[in-house]
Amino acid sequence: MSKLPHVGTTIFTVMSNLANTHNAINLSQGFPNFPVDEKLTDIVQKIAKFPVHQYLPMAGYPPLLEKISKSIERCYGRSVDAKTEILVTAGATQAIFAAIQALVNKDEEVIILDPSYDCYEPPVLLTGAKSIRIPLTDDFMPNWEIIEAAMTPKTRMLIINNPHNPSGKTLNEQDFIQLEKMLDKFPNVVLLSDEVYEFITFEKKHYSVNLNKNLRKKSVIISSFGKTFHITGWKIGYLVAPENLLIEIKKVHQFLVFSVNSIAQVALSEYLDQVDVLQLGSFYQEKRDLFANLLHNSRFELLPSEGSYFQVASFATISDLSDVDFCVNLVKEHGVAAIPLSVFNANGRDQKLIRFCFAKDSETLKNAAERLCKI
Ligand code: PMP
Ligand code: GLN
Repeated sequence: MSKLPHVGTTIFTVMSNLANTHNAINLSQGFPNFPVDEKLTDIVQKIAKFPVHQYLPMAGYPPLLEKISKSIERCYGRSVDAKTEILVTAGATQAIFAAIQALVNKDEEVIILDPSYDCYEPPVLLTGAKSIRIPLTDDFMPNWEIIEAAMTPKTRMLIINNPHNPSGKTLNEQDFIQLEKMLDKFPNVVLLSDEVYEFITFEKKHYSVNLNKNLRKKSVIISSFGKTFHITGWKIGYLVAPENLLIEIKKVHQFLVFSVNSIAQVALSEYLDQVDVLQLGSFYQEKRDLFANLLHNSRFELLPSEGSYFQVASFATISDLSDVDFCVNLVKEHGVAAIPLSVFNANGRDQKLIRFCFAKDSETLKNAAERLCKI
């Protein structure tokens, strides 16, 4: 019997394959199509000749752990113990999987806010726990009263994602005040904060759980070098958690991967001294603005994108099709691939919204927009 009977191929793979089959411009799956920083590729080339090819310590390459700790101190003013509070992982996906497997028990409950990224629920189900899918509001913000009403003595984890994929919305400081108050009433609950787009925010500054002294004591915070350094294929990221939680997470990590790719870890430890992660927001803001300007005269209505490299658009005035059918049609008839939002909702709610990834070079964005403006 299947342990995950409702899990199929992810929408990202489905849409990317469809884009390839139809030779469409792929703005569906989130990945950059421009070159990686030469400083990073030079480091990789250089170190490949050094002895960097064997197992590294289970929790991560010590100099990389130190650099991550320094970066967290610089960006968020939080002092994190490199030896006991950071774990280097094979991307955010593995971090999330290991954290859920380690911390959630059979028959407990995990609250997931919809639309939700697709890698949260399967590890919950594999532990024999129950996922409680709570919709965000129509503008993709949490309604804390509704979330609190869903909390029970069995609730073990609440997962938040900020900046939010697929919507591109970000949480406000006020949300964290409410969240803090709510979690004070449920001391058994761990907060899993997926912040893979932490450095990709625009007008509004990112509010990380790292900034909140109370919340961070009970939180696992997830980061991804894939997003921050345009290297999604490297599959490398890290999580930060208080020592008591990390001890448990490491037990799972030890037998899931043991340790993460050595070359990537050594390269990134060197690269972190040569790059300013805080510049990433303005880099992507230019892309967001270019794409929005190019679509200005289209029939799509663009929703606010406050963070991440995604732009959500409504096609409600263009078509009555379901968002999934609209996306299939968009690839086949117009040569552009996007992601339908309804697939991220447990209840399948279709708001006639689709997601475009603007982590692309200007040429690609221009060509895609030209096609989209003809619709
Ligand atoms: N969380 C979110 C919200 C994501 O968008 C992604 C990937 N795009 C991940 C986690 C997984 O990141 P990684 O590729 O580092 O595993
Ligand atoms: N996170 C990426 C996105 O949202 C996709 C990653 C994947 O394909 N698993 O598009």
